[in-house]
Amino acid sequence: MDADLHCPLCGEEKARLRFEQAPHRVQDCAGCGVTYVSPRRTGRELIEEVYDESYWRSNSPSSRGYADYAGDAALHERTYGRRLQVLEKRLPRAGRVLDVGCAEGSFLQLMQNRGWSAFGLEPSPSMAQLACARIGEDRIQTASLDRARFDSECFDLITLWDVLEHLPAPIEGLQRVREWLSPQGRVLIETQDISSLMARVCGARWQHFKHDEHLVHFTPATLESACRKAGLRLIHTQRRGAGKYVRGAFLVERSARIHRRWPGLLRPFLGGDWSVYVNPLDEIIAIAEPLP
Ligand SMILES: [Zn+2]
Repeated sequence: MDADLHCPLCGEEKARLRFEQAPHRVQDCAGCGVTYVSPRRTGRELIEEVYDESYWRSNSPSSRGYADYAGDAALHERTYGRRLQVLEKRLPRAGRVLDVGCAEGSFLQLMQNRGWSAFGLEPSPSMAQLACARIGEDRIQTASLDRARFDSECFDLITLWDVLEHLPAPIEGLQRVREWLSPQGRVLIETQDISSLMARVCGARWQHFKHDEHLVHFTPATLESACRKAGLRLIHTQRRGAGKYVRGAFLVERSARIHRRWPGLLRPFLGGDWSVYVNPLDEIIAIAEPLP
């Protein structure tokens, strides 16, 4: 693993340790205050070793990836449908949208249905292929954020759903987004909030600690400062609508975070084929506009 020990936001080396789960340390930067994981993978190593096929169909989704991401497309559509309902008044009415990390294209499909001209960016070839089939070959770039190519100021809305915490260099990523955003455009960022009540109560067991993939943990304040460094101004944050539809099996699997025996106890009662909307209020949706 790349021994990247510096803060991914400001480059500072000094940090205060929150806890250690070898080989990872979760720590707060002494310079900018953001919480980050050290050491962590970067560059091609990150894409190839963490986001391979077993990320999307993982045998151990509580520590990495998803049980069956593409198989849950219907749940993702329900989640995004609900989020769009909640957010509708805060977003541009129509235009060109780019979804960064679009996976199989569920969000873009909904936007296309609403009259948007939809574009996606997805580093995983298998997910990008599914998105191409749904959205159109010419609409999806199979690339990471740092290698993508779009014209400057060409999008009215750019969305990062569960993406920012995965980026090895979040500010550089947001700078690219800023470059592609039209002067009246909006960026929508959804990410987990380490200052939330749920995160504080759960401590090291918090469900969003997945050290191979979640490299940075934001609060509204550190997100605001990251946006500012990238030339964006946060104009709104909310927790409402940041929940997800999940399968019963997901809840059973995550209950291992409370105690390793819980999944065995819960499976007979909750393990069937059902789903529910869950919002533990530990994620935020933020909307930003470009600074002049
Ligand atoms: Zn820092």
